[in-house]
Amino acid sequence: MFERYDRQIKIIGVEGQRRLSRSCVAVVGAGGLGSPAILYLAAVGVGKLIVVDKDVVSVTDLNRQILYSEEDVGKKKAVVVCEKLKKFNSGIDIECIDREFGEEIGREIVKKADIVVDALDNWETRFILNKLCVEYRKPFVHAGIHGWYGQITTIIPGETPCLACIVPKPTPRTTVPVIGVTPGVLGVLEASQVIKYILGVGTLLTGKLLIIDLLYNEFRIIEVKRNPKCPVCGGIQKPQPELSP
Ligand SMILES: [Zn+2]
Repeated sequence: MFERYDRQIKIIGVEGQRRLSRSCVAVVGAGGLGSPAILYLAAVGVGKLIVVDKDVVSVTDLNRQILYSEEDVGKKKAVVVCEKLKKFNSGIDIECIDREFGEEIGREIVKKADIVVDALDNWETRFILNKLCVEYRKPFVHAGIHGWYGQITTIIPGETPCLACIVPKPTPRTTVPVIGVTPGVLGVLEASQVIKYILGVGTLLTGKLLIIDLLYNEFRIIEVKRNPKCPVCGGIQKPQPELSP
């Protein structure tokens, strides 16, 4: 049953593989960051993957959104992702939601997930995701990109700064210029944070923001601190995260 995972079981063991197969990961956004994150999470054998995106594939997505082909232009991303993932790994459970991420659907998704991936392209929606993850004490991995620049951090509500501690105000929605490799690298890093969180191995980017400038090959980590007066997470305590049974 685990044959396709043979090469990774040599590292994580059968028990690690079982942990992955018992976990539920939500990826919010199936675009530039979501494409590689979703593919690698499906490849590693996460038991249940929830993907939410309301968009339709546009030809301008194809420079970076590697889940889609020319034939998918004009189709709903949620539908395409579902079809592709079912062919790619039939052993995992996939739920694709063709809706805009907002409070209502967000609650349902965040409640179900063990960990959430922010693969969004705007701060307004990220702040809704941040608020819900803090409310339900769910860890989430944030990444953002612009051009050749990217940033990533892993947020454990009550323990690390939340997004509102790091970025006090959402910036307005714009069309972000981007070269495909940037969300490629960042999306894969998001998947690796999720895998390590589920397995409980290595170190996470908790309380740390990794900043990447691919144009000049610069990778640096800066410490980020909780804001005790944060309107979202100020005063909340360290949670006891539990994976679903
Ligand atoms: Zn906060």
